[in-house]
Amino acid sequence: MTKNTPIALTIAGSDSGGGAGVQADIKAISANGVYGASVITAVTAQNTTAVTAVHEVPADVVAAQIDAVLSDLDVDVIKLGMLFSVPIIETTAQRLAAFGGPVVVDPVMIAKSGDALLQDTAVTALITQILPHARLLTPNLPEAARFLDTAQATTPDEMAAQGQRLVGMGAKAVLMKGGHAVGSMCIDVLVDAKGVVATYSAPRVDTGNTHGTGCTYSAAIAAQLALGLDLETAVKAAHAYLQAAIKAADTLQIGKGHGPVHH
Ligand code: PLP
Repeated sequence: MTKNTPIALTIAGSDSGGGAGVQADIKAISANGVYGASVITAVTAQNTTAVTAVHEVPADVVAAQIDAVLSDLDVDVIKLGMLFSVPIIETTAQRLAAFGGPVVVDPVMIAKSGDALLQDTAVTALITQILPHARLLTPNLPEAARFLDTAQATTPDEMAAQGQRLVGMGAKAVLMKGGHAVGSMCIDVLVDAKGVVATYSAPRVDTGNTHGTGCTYSAAIAAQLALGLDLETAVKAAHAYLQAAIKAADTLQIGKGHGPVHH
């Protein structure tokens, strides 16, 4: 039998409200024409207004899920989201070492509601154990600043400089996402060891419904890589997908808080 279905695996947290995390990943992967598999690292009790509980999945159960998927499914790309704790990061890093394909790392730290999705003790582990496996790291501006222990970048030049420093810490390429900057345009900057590869810009659309944008973006990039696109083109396609999902968000009325984007 020849393989005809590209497969992306997300390793991330569950959002019971369906707007972010694994649920957003699977929706974005499917909408981008790729088969999605999922390994759940944490179960969050969550809706559009708050995260009310977080239950960490034991690292051996995370490992068993990864092994179950990788021993059977011919996975093209892995996307990482909420990894939460040092034991889950260690287990995941071990498995990534044996995986030959590209890994897209969304360094999920804090929900828009302000709840911690990565323990403080786990930031260093994410840098030392996960970044070296990253074909692409996709930090937003607060996440990049936290990794570098510095102030948030405010201009595309500063974003590029911070992205380069993150490449120096082990990621092959970094997509610095400018959604948290101020201004009428949102500018994302893709850098690798040689410098700026591309910038992607779009007018800022403030619908209030932006829950799960980071998850959606990185999952769409993973799907586009699974389809065989090169990194620069994969990010371009995923950027277009995310813009459409943000613009369409107002046609949804989901929950009373920050609603999800529309896949
Ligand atoms: N919940 C989970 C499980 C997530 O993985 C993420 C991803 O960043 C979030 C919540 C955060 O969603 P947002 O910050 O877009 O509301």
